[in-house]
Formats: sequence, structure tokens, C-alpha cells
Amino acid sequence: METGQLKLVVFDLDFTVWDAGGVWCDCLSPPFHRTGDRVFDANGDEVVIYSDIFKAFDFIDELGVPIAAASRTNQPEWARDLLSLHGLDDRFRWSEIYPSSKVAHFWELASASQASYSEMLFFDDEMRNIDEVGALGVHSIHVANGFRWDDFERGLAQVGV
Ligand SMILES: [Mg+2]
Repeated sequence: METGQLKLVVFDLDFTVWDAGGVWCDCLSPPFHRTGDRVFDANGDEVVIYSDIFKAFDFIDELGVPIAAASRTNQPEWARDLLSLHGLDDRFRWSEIYPSSKVAHFWELASASQASYSEMLFFDDEMRNIDEVGALGVHSIHVANGFRWDDFERGLAQVGV
């Protein structure tokens, strides 16, 4: 496989990696728990990982490209708990999780990864983030209804993988 100029793939969390019961995860009620392979909050609302995420992460791993998270949630510890309960925490080399413009998250990711913005691919469901991060030169793909394989293919095509 040819990775071309791709050095880092970055994912938003809410409505990109997961559907937290139809709301942002900072609207849930901790503590969270895992039952079988499903994750719920204290009210029984389920946090579901979009199934194509696992397939995409495996594909990116095979390319030898690191994965990062960039989330603006107001409850970073809750988001980290949810990643951990889903067994996804060790899939992210870097996690920038805090309220701020995502420009700050990407500045940190560029510094940590030594990748330039044009060597990054980013997926997010909110156009304001796509616009801000895209303006940095990051290849930014808008995810309409949770991350799907065709979003991934659009992204890979854009970076020439
Ligand atoms: Mg989102």
C-alpha cells in the first residue's frame, strides 16, 4: 500500500466516531458502564460506535499511519472514559480533547506528530470545524450522518491513497 503524503488521520468524536444516544457526550449522565460489548450511561442511554470506524482504523493501522482524536467536548474525562470502555483508547496515538477552536487541537497535533497540515486527513460532522481546519490546509472531510466507509474513501482519494 502507498501512503503518499498521509502522515496522520484525525477523527472528531461526537457524531463522527460515536452516536451518544442522539446527543453530544457531554449531555449524558455518568458513570458509564459496559454490558457485554455495549456501553451505557447511568440513565441507560447507549453510546454506539459507528461500525465502519473499526474497519477504517484497521485499514489505517495497516498503512502504518497514526490516528488522533480532536474533540471540543466540555467533558473531556467523560469522552476518555467512553473511549476506554469501547476499547478504543489505545487506538489513538494522540488525543486532543477540550473545548476550544479546533485550530488549537491541530496546532498541538502538528507539534506532537511532526506532520504538516497538508499531510493530515480529518473527519468531522460539523461544517464550522471543517471550514476552520480546512483553512489550515488539512484535508477535511465532512461526515453527514456518522462516519461511513464512503466518507473514508472520499478522504483517501483526496490524499491520493
Ligand atoms: Mg462532532
